[in-house]
Amino acid sequence: MSVLVHTPAHSQVAKPLSYWSDQFLAPGTLVRVPLGKRELLGLVWDTPDETEPPNAPEADKIRPLAGVLDGVAPLNAAWRQLMTFGAGYYQRSVGEVALAALPPQLRELSPLQLGRRLKRQAQAAAPEQHRPPDTTDLVALTPEQARAIAQFDAETRPCLLFGATGSGKTEVYLQCVQRLLTQSPNAQALVMVPEINLTPQLEARFRARFAPHYGEQALVAMHSGMTPAQRLQSWLAAHSGQARIVLGTRMAIFASMPTLQLIVVDEEHDPSYKSQDGARYSARDLAVYRAHLEGARVMLGSATPSLESWHHSRAAAQGGRYGRLTMASRIGHDQPTELQHKTQNNPPHGLPLVRRVDMTHQPKHCVVAPPLVQAIAERVARGEQSMVFLNRRGYAPVLHCADCDWKSECPHCSAYRVFHKIDRTLRCHHCGFAERVPRACPACGNPDIAPLGRGTERLEEHLSELLAQVRRPGTESELYPQGEPVRIARIDADTTRLKGTLASQLAQVHDGTVDVLVGTQMIAKGHDFRRITLVAAVNPDGALFSSDFRAPERLFGLLMQAAGRAGRDAETSSRSEMWLQTAHPKHPLFEALKQHDYPAFAEQQLRERAQAAMPPFSFQALVRAEARTQEVAQGFLSAASAAVSDLPQSEQWLARVTLYPPVPMSIQRVADVERAQMLVESASRATLQSFLALWHTALHATRGQAAGRGLIRWAVDVDPLSI
Ligand code: ADP
Ligand code: ZN
Ligand code: ZN
Repeated sequence: MSVLVHTPAHSQVAKPLSYWSDQFLAPGTLVRVPLGKRELLGLVWDTPDETEPPNAPEADKIRPLAGVLDGVAPLNAAWRQLMTFGAGYYQRSVGEVALAALPPQLRELSPLQLGRRLKRQAQAAAPEQHRPPDTTDLVALTPEQARAIAQFDAETRPCLLFGATGSGKTEVYLQCVQRLLTQSPNAQALVMVPEINLTPQLEARFRARFAPHYGEQALVAMHSGMTPAQRLQSWLAAHSGQARIVLGTRMAIFASMPTLQLIVVDEEHDPSYKSQDGARYSARDLAVYRAHLEGARVMLGSATPSLESWHHSRAAAQGGRYGRLTMASRIGHDQPTELQHKTQNNPPHGLPLVRRVDMTHQPKHCVVAPPLVQAIAERVARGEQSMVFLNRRGYAPVLHCADCDWKSECPHCSAYRVFHKIDRTLRCHHCGFAERVPRACPACGNPDIAPLGRGTERLEEHLSELLAQVRRPGTESELYPQGEPVRIARIDADTTRLKGTLASQLAQVHDGTVDVLVGTQMIAKGHDFRRITLVAAVNPDGALFSSDFRAPERLFGLLMQAAGRAGRDAETSSRSEMWLQTAHPKHPLFEALKQHDYPAFAEQQLRERAQAAMPPFSFQALVRAEARTQEVAQGFLSAASAAVSDLPQSEQWLARVTLYPPVPMSIQRVADVERAQMLVESASRATLQSFLALWHTALHATRGQAAGRGLIRWAVDVDPLSI
């Protein structure tokens, strides 16, 4: 039998290994195999074709399988094909990809233990009484929603659901899933969300809709926040077909779902769909591939689609190959005519009014402009909520000595350590190195070291000073005869470190305990807050002039998502506002944002990308290297580059693939490791793919030579998101 095992990344054992078995085992069967002194989980794999000699020792050295996990049906051909494709496309070994796609506990349990687990699960799944779904308890769709669904039904291609924030995309997903489940009694649907903290809300909505008809077992979640036992349970339910709906984060794209017929990717533009270690796969891109492979339908949804998906959904004449479904209005707002939209200065379709504050006209060093403070105070007095966001956590990004110019650099990274006031530490956000704040400047002894710049922690403190006189309405008490002071809360990676804290903090926002919410982009995404009528971005300018060509796309998406948190309730949407504090109020990005005009922004960005031959008009891969010294890291990349000229037909490759010179990464050193990267680009995806496959062996050989000189790691990132 050919058996795949989880071999270390980049080991030469990329092919399946051979084992004896006295019975025939179908490809996809889970087995236990001995490897060296250990026993591992293995997957019986399709036997390589005759032309390729299998990775087999002499017959008498082949060892027998240690066991078969026979309670679990073999993984089907489509799933195996997905693994083979994923490994090939992202330049990893198929053993690594396939075994990592299985729940970790499956690797640890013996056949006996697994058998017991399966028995328990089967008992728990005793049939429940299900009420057949009936159409009366469906929400009445808006005309836009109905049109989107009809269009989706009429399409065979992948579809982009381009729907404004609050236009009811989730309802469209729910109804598409509902229709599928009613139409075919076995069909399964996969619904993906970008972040774990968005799964509970979505899960609650799906559960409320489907559990009464199909039972609690019909819906399972899959994300890395679950315990190993829960993950195994969900996985088995999906694999057996018992779970009709799988909700999960990017890892769920690898779930075994034998009757998969629909994949939904919510917030498809979100960077968290791209894995940043191991096989650097894009779950969104794999969703499109997988749907194609299994003959399933796929719907990608977003208010601010990735430029890739937007490009794919242009008219066929412009190279489009996806359908595009548009929902421009928020629920509770009729779609205005083109004319109304152009003649009124009001924002379209119930979306918040965007106000730009020119910070060059505000008092010097002011952090929150006085008119914004005023606007927040008015909200508090009316009992409405505001959300203020700043993409930097901690108190201040740097601590500084004015006498000798000492700054709180991290000794291990090319970055500053961030000052966290709450526990008085200097913490490096790259390597985690933390120390207590020194009492005086470590370089000159000056006791007056001061924070430079501002993070969410300091913003929260600052806002509570600015709003100290403001009172909540109708809250007079003995202690506060004029009403209670304003309540400010902060949500960021620091305040949510403990399990469950995020959920409880979000609950306080939902139930109205909090008046002003301060946070990082964590709060800007996806949440269906009902009482927020003002959203403010304190300092969005940083990304305007970034060297990363995707920075404007990300900034626009983030700001539009953030704006989408305001005025989600039809009653308040008419007075909801998004404030931007900027030194560049006339910047085209902000102009487009003011109009809520994603299509105009996207067309302008795509023109620029086309002129510069950048993605989606070209295809990229990054080779990254980490070493003790920058010289070794770059040396490896240069040698790899030079090795191209030894490839067969190297001139033809070099004419069609561009290899840029190695450069240090933007944060060059992290945890005492030097990092460098090299960009590889081609006008054709297929060319880039064939080139990478051919070049891989050369990279391995080069690596062998460089390892002795201190090369630590290297990796290829296909379709990288940040450069
Ligand atoms: P999106 O995902 O596009 O941001 P949601 O699906 O969360 O929007 O919908 C926004 C709000 O509108 C939700 O509270 C939802 O329950 C409500 N909603 C959606 N569709 C309808 C409908 N057809 N009729 C009434 N309310 C709806
Ligand atoms: Zn000093
Ligand atoms: Zn560090």
